[in-house]
Amino acid sequence: MIQLENIQVGYGHCVVAQMEGDLAFAKAKLIAIIGPNGSGKSTFLRAVASGQHIIDGTVKLEDKNWNDYSAEERSRFISIVLTERAFSYFLSVRELLELSRAPYTNYIGKLADEDHAIINKTLESFDLKSLEKRKAGTLSDGQLQRVLIARAIVQDTQYILMDEPTSHLDINHKADLLVLLRDYCHKNNKTVIFATHELQLAMALSDEIVSIHHRNIKHNSTQDFMNSNELQKIFPSPHVNFDKGKVDFRFE
Ligand code: ADP
Ligand code: MG
Repeated sequence: MIQLENIQVGYGHCVVAQMEGDLAFAKAKLIAIIGPNGSGKSTFLRAVASGQHIIDGTVKLEDKNWNDYSAEERSRFISIVLTERAFSYFLSVRELLELSRAPYTNYIGKLADEDHAIINKTLESFDLKSLEKRKAGTLSDGQLQRVLIARAIVQDTQYILMDEPTSHLDINHKADLLVLLRDYCHKNNKTVIFATHELQLAMALSDEIVSIHHRNIKHNSTQDFMNSNELQKIFPSPHVNFDKGKVDFRFE
């Protein structure tokens, strides 16, 4: 479990977002982080993933302070998929996935049969088998995004954090990806926490919502979040109405 206690995240002395009390992320959940542009979704994700940008409060992993883990221990517990394209363009899709097995390989980095099996299974479930030999630099944004997410799955950490994982995908790939992630979490007892602008998909598919609004971080089950009228408060507009029954937006 990840536990945050009286967390304040931000830059220097400037608090971007905060939560009084405890917030716990349990296992086997798909959790969406929502909030307006600039509300602090990315800052919050980085704080949870790496302890960066924490002004006050503590992050604990399985009841032990984040700082008491070695970098290697953390890399087996949490991985993060960022939107930046900062990685080696000349590596193939398969090589990129192989590298992310590093926390599990021996000191010369040799992959075992089990590593290859996980890579093959993930390439298949992400519909990437036909791209496995392609250099990462030659992929479209959407293909690359699927590769970077597959890479985090291959790393096989308990928690995977993702910043806007569906931003470059078209509607069917967005839905396919989130259904895949939800099933992955539920079947494998893993937790994916992702920042998103896709409110409709988040409401339809996530188990829990973290909302950031006016610097306050709140954490609810998706059902409770929808039953409160938070969504309209966070994204007020006379032209958009959220239909809770149908989990749908109406524009007028
Ligand atoms: P979101 O992901 O919700 O759009 P961010 O977490 O990126 O929001 O940003 C939250 C706030 O923190 C914004 O006001 C942004 O300008 C500020 N911010 C982001 N990165 C930095 C930084 N490196 N230094 C100072 N302020 C930053
Ligand atoms: Mg962001």
